[in-house]
Amino acid sequence: MNFISQRVSSLAASQTLAMSQKSAELRAAGIDVINLSVGEPDFFTPQHIKDAAKAAVDANFSFYTPVPGYMSLRKAIADKLARENGVTFAPEQIVVGNGAKQELCNVILATVNAGDEVIIPVPAWVSYVEMVKLAEGVCVTVPAGIDSNFKITPTMLEAAITPRTRMLLLCSPSNPTGSVYSAAELRGLVEVLERHPQIIVVSDEIYEHINYTDEGFTSMASFASIADRTVIINGVSKAYAMTGWRIGYCAAPLTIAKAVTKLQGQYTSGASSIAQKAAEAAYTGPQECVGVMREAFRRRRDLVVAMAREIPGLKVNEPGGAFYLFPQVEAYIGKRCADRVINDDSDLAMYLLDEAHVATVAGSAFCAPGYIRLSYAASDQSLAEAMRRIAAALAKLQ
Ligand code: PMP
Ligand code: GLU
Repeated sequence: MNFISQRVSSLAASQTLAMSQKSAELRAAGIDVINLSVGEPDFFTPQHIKDAAKAAVDANFSFYTPVPGYMSLRKAIADKLARENGVTFAPEQIVVGNGAKQELCNVILATVNAGDEVIIPVPAWVSYVEMVKLAEGVCVTVPAGIDSNFKITPTMLEAAITPRTRMLLLCSPSNPTGSVYSAAELRGLVEVLERHPQIIVVSDEIYEHINYTDEGFTSMASFASIADRTVIINGVSKAYAMTGWRIGYCAAPLTIAKAVTKLQGQYTSGASSIAQKAAEAAYTGPQECVGVMREAFRRRRDLVVAMAREIPGLKVNEPGGAFYLFPQVEAYIGKRCADRVINDDSDLAMYLLDEAHVATVAGSAFCAPGYIRLSYAASDQSLAEAMRRIAAALAKLQ
């Protein structure tokens, strides 16, 4: 008997999490694997945030939480959006959940009908396509390669729009490429969207603080002409090194926030009380920690880019944000080491794991075959060693 639904059978497992799990297993077996697969800060959560969580335990924050989150946290998020992004959202428009991942999935499930088209510029984070499939939507991927810095143009967006387009899913700074759209580039996309009022814009801003560009970060919701149909996805995972606490949010038009709350009320309820109090401390407390971590990531970006550029055959751009490098590896496809043939980027990622003991993720997981993703959220020493190992393993391919 096959007990598994069509819905779940047709989903791909998360390859970022799978690669990370595989490298943890190899490590447990005593192999010195350097894990550059999963994207999560390697820093510990700042002390004042941990203290807030401990205080919440002692103050008996142990009861069910309101489905969309504590009002105090939603207010703190509304203040953050006004202060840092110059956008106005009432606390009622904000829904807190178990990570940005859950809120993104909620928004998609709450707005996409079967057969609706969702435009996804690719490379894109592993979960976008699968979430749209879960909602029985149709993914319309718009590829942009390394030569265009992985960014789509207004013309490319316009060409992808049809009367069935329901949503545009944008991520800047981007996972997996690190590319950052400038305000002018976003404005170009907004001008297209102004002509198509049926499209909801979902802007995944989870890497907003990990941005090394001089211009800084522009939120999609800051464009007045589309603000009433723009949803921000964000959370504490990346900016405050809190991936395991599982707190993220959507800031959305009220009707969408209410629909998300209804959905969340039926299948997970409100997010963890303790984690919400910690997140509140993150948003209301001192912000220096954010800049300190960003500067460490910038230093590592420079290190990894410089070392990757020394490796023959790797095509590397300079990412403006996030903590990923997305080199093109096509020069190695079709090569071999003894009787092992590298047929595609997945083979190359497995080869690097077996031969160099470095875990990466194949570009095809992000709808971008011919690339691999390296997360440089690791110590400088690990990164330098990983790049040396990768260079040595690639040099063996003939
Ligand atoms: N969006 C992007 C682009 C991400 O890389 C991640 C990290 N997994 C998420 C959303 C989800 O983050 P979280 O669920 O940890 O808040
Ligand atoms: N965003 C991270 C990554 O892409 C975390 C893993 C995940 O949730 O997919 O590696």
